[in-house]
Amino acid sequence: MNSTTDIVWLQDNLRVADNPLLHFEHCPHQLLCLYVLDQRWLQAAVPGEKTPRLGPARLRFLWQSLMELRGELLRRGSDLLVRIGDPAAVVVELATSLDAREVRVAEHSGCEESKNITRAAAGLPDSCRLYRADSGYLIDAAALPFELDALPSSFSAFRRSVEKQCEIPPPLPAPVTLPGWPDGAPRGFPPLRSVCETSAAWQPDNRQGFVFVGGESAANDRLQHYLWRQNGAESYKKTRNGLLGANFSTRFSPWLSRGCLSARQVNHEVKAWEAEFGSCESSYWIVFELLWRDYFHRAAQLEGASLFGRDSLPAANAAFDTWRNADTGVPFIDAAMLELRRTGWISNRARQNVASFLVKDLQVDWRLGAWWFEHCLIDYDVASNWGNWRYIAGVGRDPRQDRYFNVLKQAGHYDPKGLYVAYWLPALESLPYGLERHQPWRVAPSQFKQPCVLPDEWQRWLIAATEFEETDE
Ligand SMILES: Cc1cc2nc3c(=O)[nH]c(=O)nc-3n(C[C@H](O)[C@H](O)[C@H](O)COP(=O)(O)OP(=O)(O)OC[C@H]3O[C@@H](n4cnc5c(N)ncnc54)[C@H](O)[C@@H]3O)c2cc1C
Repeated sequence: MNSTTDIVWLQDNLRVADNPLLHFEHCPHQLLCLYVLDQRWLQAAVPGEKTPRLGPARLRFLWQSLMELRGELLRRGSDLLVRIGDPAAVVVELATSLDAREVRVAEHSGCEESKNITRAAAGLPDSCRLYRADSGYLIDAAALPFELDALPSSFSAFRRSVEKQCEIPPPLPAPVTLPGWPDGAPRGFPPLRSVCETSAAWQPDNRQGFVFVGGESAANDRLQHYLWRQNGAESYKKTRNGLLGANFSTRFSPWLSRGCLSARQVNHEVKAWEAEFGSCESSYWIVFELLWRDYFHRAAQLEGASLFGRDSLPAANAAFDTWRNADTGVPFIDAAMLELRRTGWISNRARQNVASFLVKDLQVDWRLGAWWFEHCLIDYDVASNWGNWRYIAGVGRDPRQDRYFNVLKQAGHYDPKGLYVAYWLPALESLPYGLERHQPWRVAPSQFKQPCVLPDEWQRWLIAATEFEETDE
C-alpha cells in the first residue's frame, strides 16, 4: 500500500485540543503541520505609512503561540513548519513536492484568508483533495438554523434563533499521538528576530497588571484562573465594563483570536462552573459575548471584501494623528490610546469610546481607526475588529446613526474618580479625584491644553462638573 501524506494548514487555530483538523477519518501515514505568515501583513496598508498591519504586540504573541504549538506537536510525534510568504503558493508547493493526499484547513472569516484557501485549492494537483472544516466557533456554519446568506441582520435576532435551535457541541480532545513527519519534508521555524527586530525587542508595559503570553497552556491557565480562582463567572456582568485591573473581564480575546483557545472550550468550562455553583446572569453573559463573536464572524464571511469599506484606505490626516498619538487633550481618550499602544490591549468600554470619538467627534474615516487597531491589537481578529468598527460607525449590517458615545459622560460614569485616566496620564494626579480629571483644561488651563474638539453634546457634562465643584465646596 502507498504511504499517504496529509498537510494540516494552520491559520487562526493554533491549538491541539478541540482542533478538528487533527482528527482524521482515515489517518494518513505521514503528516506535515504548516503555518505560513502572510508576508503582506508585514507591509503597510495605508498610503504614505510605514506602520505594518501586524504590529509588534501581536507578532510577538503569535510567535509565542507557534513555539508552544510546535512543542505540543513534537510531543505527539509531529512537528510544525513555519514559513513566511504567500500562503497559497507555499501550500501548493509543499502539496506537490510531497505528493500529498489531502490539505486540511479551517474556514476563515477574513476574505484575504479565504481567498488564499481558494487559490490554494485551484493550484493543488488533481490527486490532492482540500478538506475544509469549521473550527473555533460555538456553532458551525452547517449547524446554524439558516443559510449564511439569510443571516439575521441584527445580533439579537441571530442570538434568539441560535439559542432556541442550536446545541453547542463539547470540545474535541487533543490527539495523544500524530502521524510522523513526511520523509524528506523540510523543517524550520524562523526566530522572531529574523522576522521583525521591533517585535523581538518589544515589551508590554506591565502597568496594566496583566501580561499576555501566547500559547495553549497560558490560555488554559487564564481560563482556569478566571473561572475557578477569580470566580469571574459570578460577577462578569457587573465588572465587564471596567477599565483598570486584570480581572474585570475574561481577557480570553488574544487566545481566542489566534485559536490557542476555542469558544467551545470556554463554553464547556463555563458549564462545568455552572454545574458546581449554579448558572447566573454573569455566567450566561460570558457565552452571550462569545455569540457576539460568532455573529461578527458569520457577518464577515457574508460581507467578504465589503467588510473593509468600498474604496481603498484614505491617507492619515492631522485629526487621526492626534487620536493615535494620544494627543487629543481628552484624558479618557488619550489614556486609552496610550494603553493600547503600550500593551496591545484595551477594554471593550475603552474601544467603544475611542472608536466613537474618532468617527463621530473627530469625523475621521472609520477605516483608519480600524486599521490602527489592526496594527496595535494583540487580539486583533478581522471579523471582530472590522465588524465592531462598522457597528460603531453605523455602516453595513444593522446600521444606526445613534451609536454616539458622549465620552465625557462615559468617563464620569465608568471612571468617576478619574483613577484610570491618572493611571496612564500621571500629570492628572495633581488634580483631585473626580470629574475634574476628565476636563483638566477647565480646572487648570495653564497646565493642560484645550481638547482638540469640544462637541456640543458635551456641554451638559461640562456643567455637571461645575455642579460637582460647587457641591464639593
Ligand atoms: C472598535 C472595536 C474593535 C474591536 N476589535 C476586536 C478585535 O480585533 N478582536 C477581538 O477579539 N475583539 C474585538 N473587539 C471586541 C471586544 O472589545 C473584545 O473582544 C474584548 O474587549 C476582549 O476582552 P475580553 O476577552 O476580556 O472580553 P470579554 O468581555 O471577557 O468577552 C469574552 C469574549 O467574548 C468575545 N467578545 C466580547 N465582546 C465582543 C464583541 N463586541 N465583538 C466580538 N467578540 C466579543 C471575545 O472573544 C472575548 O474574548 C472590538 C471592539 C470594538 C468596540
